[in-house]
Amino acid sequence: MQNVENKVVLITGASSGIGEATARLLAKQGAIVVLGARRTERLAAIVRDIQQTGGQAAYHALDVVDAKQVNEFVTFAKDTFGRIDVMFNNAGIMPLSPMGALKTDEWNKIIDINIKGVLNGIAAVLPLMEQQGNGQIINTASTGAHAVGPSCAVYCASKYAVWAISEGLRQESSTIRVTVLSPGVTTTELGHDITDEAAAGLIEQLRTMSLNPDAIANAVLYAISQPDNVDVSELVIRSVSSK
Ligand code: NDP
Repeated sequence: MQNVENKVVLITGASSGIGEATARLLAKQGAIVVLGARRTERLAAIVRDIQQTGGQAAYHALDVVDAKQVNEFVTFAKDTFGRIDVMFNNAGIMPLSPMGALKTDEWNKIIDINIKGVLNGIAAVLPLMEQQGNGQIINTASTGAHAVGPSCAVYCASKYAVWAISEGLRQESSTIRVTVLSPGVTTTELGHDITDEAAAGLIEQLRTMSLNPDAIANAVLYAISQPDNVDVSELVIRSVSSK
């Protein structure tokens, strides 16, 4: 596909869900995808699949909380493929709970992965993209970056932050395209780490109006494939049955 073929696209959180679906779709359209996450056996299997169908892909172990590992991930991609065209900061977690449950360890994890992880990703590619004079940064927020619900306060706060960081970055740059991606409920492994019983029930309810991750991958493909002077600044994708 035009403006996708041979682009080097880095994807964090590529071992499952939206990241995996996006890696598979972009590779099918001719992009060179570099997958990062902690579960490397999964990344290896996805990369093998992509390569067996003629796609170009590589992976590197990555914990987005650790800025050093994020820099190593980016350096690996640059050394292997020569440049970075797109950084898709997608890794995230969602251990929902009401504030009163005081799951402060989980609050900190959300902040570390969902906010600091995105900042680490931006910091790792920004100098390189500025030097190249082009590039695209896509950050995964959520429809939860637009509205807060019970049991979702800290998760939504993290996604409001991703939205604000993306919008600020977009306004500061005249050469780098910045896209904030706001998916609605999507069938993935997200929420597998919910320890609060009531919040786990809420997820089961939401799953009844869930999208397939391919719908989100298609939106990412759209944002990347636009002409270089077009910045798709935000994409909100939700199930037609959601309110
Ligand atoms: P998944 O749980 O399927 O995927 C999450 C990905 O993030 C996994 O690949 C996981 O890999 C990775 N990840 C988690 N922590 C880290 C870390 N510390 N370092 C590196 N990678 C990490 O869920 P989704 O695909 O749904 O989630 C992707 C993004 O989409 C998230 O940011 C989520 O908040 C957002 N989102 C999802 C929605 C949904 O309904 N599914 C709706 C709106 C937004 P590993 O564990 O191997 O490291």
